[in-house]
Amino acid sequence: MGNKEEFRDTIATADDKGKRLWVFPKKPSGRFYEYRKYVSYVLLIILFAAPFVKINGNQFMMFNILERRFNIFGFPFWPQDFHIFVIMMVIGVVFIILFTVAFGRIFCGWFCPQTIFMEMVFRRIEYWIEGDRGKQMRLEKQDWNAEKIRKRSLKWFLFFIISFLIANVFLAYLMGSDRLIQYVTDGPLNHLSTFISLLIFTAVFYFVFAWFREQVCVIACPYGRLQGVLLDNKSIVVAYDHKRGEKKKGRAKFKKNEDRSAAGKGDCIDCFQCVQVCPTGIDIRNGTQLECINCTACIDACDNMMEAVDLPKGLIRYASEENIEKKAKFRITPRLKGYSIVLGILTAVLVGILFIRSDVEARILRLPGQLYERKAENIISNVYTYKLVNKTTADFEDIEFRLLSHRGKIMPVKQSNILVPGQELTEGTLFIEIHTAALEEEKERLKIGIYSGERLIETTSTMFMGPRSFN
Ligand code: SF4
Ligand code: SF4
Repeated sequence: MGNKEEFRDTIATADDKGKRLWVFPKKPSGRFYEYRKYVSYVLLIILFAAPFVKINGNQFMMFNILERRFNIFGFPFWPQDFHIFVIMMVIGVVFIILFTVAFGRIFCGWFCPQTIFMEMVFRRIEYWIEGDRGKQMRLEKQDWNAEKIRKRSLKWFLFFIISFLIANVFLAYLMGSDRLIQYVTDGPLNHLSTFISLLIFTAVFYFVFAWFREQVCVIACPYGRLQGVLLDNKSIVVAYDHKRGEKKKGRAKFKKNEDRSAAGKGDCIDCFQCVQVCPTGIDIRNGTQLECINCTACIDACDNMMEAVDLPKGLIRYASEENIEKKAKFRITPRLKGYSIVLGILTAVLVGILFIRSDVEARILRLPGQLYERKAENIISNVYTYKLVNKTTADFEDIEFRLLSHRGKIMPVKQSNILVPGQELTEGTLFIEIHTAALEEEKERLKIGIYSGERLIETTSTMFMGPRSFN
């Protein structure tokens, strides 16, 4: 058993001195690779288009961390909506956990941008320029002759261009596509610091896709590290059917016209196609491993071999440990039910919050350090600052503050046509005056309506201070 588990002590992409072993995966081909190509085309279009598409004037997706402005599916979120953003993040995490418990690293193989770019963009360019695994290995070993210089420089140049493009799109997510286009039109020298950031992002993407590659999934990605706690023997993962592959006498090379079953040999013909095709350099026949990103390349490779030797496909397939050991069918476990309930509750909370979320956020706060002022005819006055955030793209004009809970007056310092432009914030100062006859306590909560013309756009509350005794 000890020897069998030895592979878990090392990673396939480093030798015993810790030196990187470069992976030259064979070009996959087969049913799943074709499906993954289509999925990747759709995701790449979404990824590149999302910061440039607008809905009601709002960028479809934007994560402007510096200015704390976020757009998700065209809905703008302000710092005041941070709780919504947090709930969305938690929903995302629970959703991924639920999926991982049920279907292993399906996200990594099919949807993760790292895999999509690595396997469906950069790797395919590599195959196109340098050829398949064998040719790439030969090129690596050969001296720097004209062919190697030509192929490598073309590859690195294209890698740089694509990294530069990705960095631009990344910036469009971070600072908004309008501003990015504006900066491009103005020229890089007019926005030098942004241009330097762009080059740094380009360098990072180039480093990741030209050199670091599968190490992101193997050692850097925290989600990959989580697999150990999330997966159980009921999770459906890309798995080798060791029962069928090994049988009594284990795997053995293929011999024509041999009855393998009668000889007690397993269906695995030890062709190593599944190993050669693996982008993380592992042997799936050793069992589920943290390095496996569930890319399905080994399923395709093995199916092709099984077809060639006239054995049933599916020796490597999507299956759970329980399914392979006991031929048990997929079941919804209590753990899955638990995660589903949590996900359902969080989603309901989010929908509820989105439903009651108003277009305008208003905050009226007493000016710090100021008490009240007693004016003539027993009028008490408090001074406030107000902040109005317009979360829509339309302007709100003729803003008026009306006291809803008490009889009294609200007098903004700026008296006429207070305007809150779309997606902007307006601040100012106002006074509230109330007759002592309308006050019962030293401190009272006031309810204030904010109107645009005659339309009530938000209500808010604030505290009003008066004298201890009203006489
Ligand atoms: S073991 Fe198979 S599914 Fe896992 S990473 Fe390697 S090729 Fe992909
Ligand atoms: S591709 Fe299939 S048959 Fe070939 S070594 Fe892998 S598991 Fe065995």
